Amino acid sequence: MHVLVINCGSSSIKAEVVDADTGAAAAGLLAERVGTDGVEVTGTVAIPALPAGADHAAVLAAVLPALLAAAPGVGAVGHRVVHGGGRFTEPTHIDDDVVAGIEAVSPLAPLHNPPNLAGIRAARAILPDLPHVAVFDTAFHATLPRRARHYALPAELADRHGVRRYGFHGTSHAYVARRAAAWLGEDPRALRIITCHLGNGASVCAVEYGRSVETSMGMTPLEGLVMGTRSGDLDPGALLALMRAEGLDVDAADRLLNKQSGLLGLSGVSHDLRDIEARAAEGDERCRLAIQVYAHRVRRYIGAYAAVMGGVDAIVFTAGIGENSALMRDRIAQRMEWLGAHLDPDANRALRLTDDAPVAALSAAHSRVRLLAVRTDEQHEIARQAAAVVGTGSAAPAPAAAETPTIPIAISARHVHLTQEAVEALFGPGHTLTPRNPLSQPGQFACEETLTVHGPKRSIERVRVLGPVRPACQVEVSRTDEFFLGIDAPVRMSGNVANSPGCVLEGPAGRLTLEEGLICAWRHIHMTPADAELFGVAHGDVVEVAVDSAGRDLVFGDVVVRVKDSYALEMHVDTDEANAAELQDLQPGMLVPTQGRARVLRRQRGISG
Ligand code: ADP
Repeated sequence: MHVLVINCGSSSIKAEVVDADTGAAAAGLLAERVGTDGVEVTGTVAIPALPAGADHAAVLAAVLPALLAAAPGVGAVGHRVVHGGGRFTEPTHIDDDVVAGIEAVSPLAPLHNPPNLAGIRAARAILPDLPHVAVFDTAFHATLPRRARHYALPAELADRHGVRRYGFHGTSHAYVARRAAAWLGEDPRALRIITCHLGNGASVCAVEYGRSVETSMGMTPLEGLVMGTRSGDLDPGALLALMRAEGLDVDAADRLLNKQSGLLGLSGVSHDLRDIEARAAEGDERCRLAIQVYAHRVRRYIGAYAAVMGGVDAIVFTAGIGENSALMRDRIAQRMEWLGAHLDPDANRALRLTDDAPVAALSAAHSRVRLLAVRTDEQHEIARQAAAVVGTGSAAPAPAAAETPTIPIAISARHVHLTQEAVEALFGPGHTLTPRNPLSQPGQFACEETLTVHGPKRSIERVRVLGPVRPACQVEVSRTDEFFLGIDAPVRMSGNVANSPGCVLEGPAGRLTLEEGLICAWRHIHMTPADAELFGVAHGDVVEVAVDSAGRDLVFGDVVVRVKDSYALEMHVDTDEANAAELQDLQPGMLVPTQGRARVLRRQRGISG
């Protein structure tokens, strides 16, 4: 499918017809100095002369029909939108409400969103019959955990103004992480990748198992790395001091940090690294310093993000500087041996990315962490995502995610299993359990019967009995229940009650003292042999399960796998764990992978079926 990709900047328009699968451009135009008397259009298609001062709408009205005539078969329009605010966390089909929503978040990106919107409005008017999709630079970072999203500012004030970290360059980070994983022959969900997008704007992203968990740009694209003309990280106190000392107003401070700083400010020569490299080679001290500060900042972020993810499998360089500057890649990758990343200086110097070879390695053969340069292609990624939204694209945003099933997580409340003798002792001679409702595991049921469990300190009433009867009595409680009862019970697999503490059960027909049988259930997953094969695990394997709950990432470690023909796929956690993780019942969990398969921490012997 062909997608018309439109990227409107404040004074430029890039419009390209892109194959959503291959990324090949069938036709493309670039309009510059839009809104001035000198509008200039270059590209693969001839267009009629434009009136002086033509704005975004006038340029698009002239350009789009010519472009679509040159490259027929366009099925959707993909619009790059810089800021999606808190509302837009995925590519979104554009209707009037979405246009209003993008407008509502525009104060967060006053330079970027208004021209993006102008392009959307004009293109919808010119091409009303095509579906239009907004693809947001911020969307890939919607998975940032809360701890990475928040600034340490007064919470209400920050909320009122949407002051939090959003991150940018999301389409590029997503694209190169996926390309890198494909080149390595790995599932992105099995890798921790640090992507360094080093263009005029620059940012680093920690892509942990396919999701952005940290990125260097924040509420605006000003935070983080040294950029062409942006300062990146700066002590806010330094800004205040400069504003006072120089009498700068807000606009002047804005210009200083966004337009006069970065490589340009440091070098005093240029925002373009090519110029700076050339001058540094001639011995210019300020240019040498600019290169050192730039590289140091990137290296610092790489180290930080390796710590954030607890390790890293690949580091990716992309965009103008990342793809082309061997010198900068070399400087950044110095002294990374501690991380297991070893640069091959010859490979780095010889590296040339081409259309046929858009990915190349610059790490030594023995390097545990792979260092890669990947050519980014935001137009392709926008086309791919737009096509996926329209529903005819071959590539959904996360194609692999749909293939591995998630595991529903059930919350298991405190309960009791009884022998038939115990049933009769507690409920009367000849009594049999009365099924109330079936449980997810075939043949298991919750009973009408409940009991009181007495501990040395306190008692818990109305504890549900589960059927059918078993060869041994067992009481499964949470840690909180243990504290309440005054009993210290071990974490055990169901059925393994040897040497566990006892308690007293009380039913309508009498009391029964258990010598042993009170346990805190070990969190576990029930699955069939077919499930086990699919997940690449075996009975007794101890695995980790990641829970995808909005704004809060959590991994349950120490989860034991139980395999049996009659089981239904389900993970069981107790109420304490569910509360701590703010789980809803039957929320999906995912096995934490490594090298494309479930990571198995160890295999536990002697686990009953
Ligand atoms: P943008 O963020 O505007 O898309 P690019 O990704 O095109 O920017 O990156 C532009 C930057 O890449 C230029 O400012 C320049 O510093 C750098 N660059 C491009 N080619 C080279 C090269 N061969 N050597 C060093 N730097 C380069």
